[in-house]
Amino acid sequence: MPIKAVLFDLFDTLLPVNGGDAFYEPALQKLHEILLGQGVKVSFEEFRQAYFEVRDKIYMETASTLEEPHFKVRISRTLKKLGYDFDVSHPVVAEGAKAFAEEFKRYIMLDDETVEVLRKLHGKYKLGIVSNISIPELAWELLEKFDLKKYFDTIIISGDINTRKPHPKIFEEALKSLGVKAYETLFVGDTLSTDIKGAKNVGMYTVLIKRTDSSKALFWSSKEKTQIQPDKVITSLKEILELLKEWQL
Ligand SMILES: [Mg+2]
Repeated sequence: MPIKAVLFDLFDTLLPVNGGDAFYEPALQKLHEILLGQGVKVSFEEFRQAYFEVRDKIYMETASTLEEPHFKVRISRTLKKLGYDFDVSHPVVAEGAKAFAEEFKRYIMLDDETVEVLRKLHGKYKLGIVSNISIPELAWELLEKFDLKKYFDTIIISGDINTRKPHPKIFEEALKSLGVKAYETLFVGDTLSTDIKGAKNVGMYTVLIKRTDSSKALFWSSKEKTQIQPDKVITSLKEILELLKEWQL
């Protein structure tokens, strides 16, 4: 069955994140600075600890529903834990989220191959993005900044629909908006537990991108490796061009 659509994960697939998780500490520091300036008198260490506790708690609470509450919820709940009452809609919370996002943005690169691959696939396949991020506006900004929106027929961001990968709904949403079936679709992503697992579950072909310089491999548990098998593993985005030719036969 010929492939009619190609869906991509965004971070570390189309847009590599420099240094893996290296952005996280400086981004949290920027967020903390904003809060300090607004009279939140807690040390960075204290803030950091509370933040991670809240983040992990939210992940646990949403483990079965796979909801994706906005990043602002984390900030508001972290502040509450520290004794400060700032509602999710408070401007200070929004400013904090923005500061975090601005710092994160500095670590995002446009892969040399991304534009070339998208240009070659555009017009031949329906193209889409399915991305997990709790600050959806950041994903939109980056797509704008790198001028990538024009290549895509659909862009689905978890934070916009309050559902994250691997929930079938986010993949089905993309299929519906492209008007294609799962078995006509290839999903390309870098994370087994979200991209490959979720796309496979709905019946798509799956390709795992495993860049040789990626630090991601360190995070893969051996359990994941054996239970979730992509149809193919590639080390650079360009390989999907050849792969698609083969699969068209
Ligand atoms: Mg990714």
